[in-house]
Amino acid sequence: MALKGWKELELGGVILEPGNTIEYQSGKWRVFRPVLDMEKCIHCMICWIYCPDSSIEVKDSKIEGFDYEHCKGCGICARECPKEAIIMVKEAKAIKEEAK
Ligand code: SF4
Ligand code: SF4
Repeated sequence: MALKGWKELELGGVILEPGNTIEYQSGKWRVFRPVLDMEKCIHCMICWIYCPDSSIEVKDSKIEGFDYEHCKGCGICARECPKEAIIMVKEAKAIKEEAK
């Protein structure tokens, strides 16, 4: 999807289409990514409540992982997790590890 130029944006940056953030892959500019330690997770859903991008993936009331296309790497989930089950790792390092 092509990004709009500044002249095409609504005055004041007003959002006229609610829910349109799904179209923007904010994960592309992430510097850090959250990584879940499933051994520590108690599925309390606190990270899910706090995530500003709805990027915590849940199935049958259990955390499954992260939507890395939309997670912007803010680290709020890691900060709020009471069990320290989420750590933030450098995106570049994680990509290198995946390529091995
Ligand atoms: S806040 Fe931590 S313990 Fe709770 S569901 Fe999220 S990762 Fe698991
Ligand atoms: S790092 Fe931020 S955007 Fe990504 S899953 Fe955690 S709270 Fe959500």
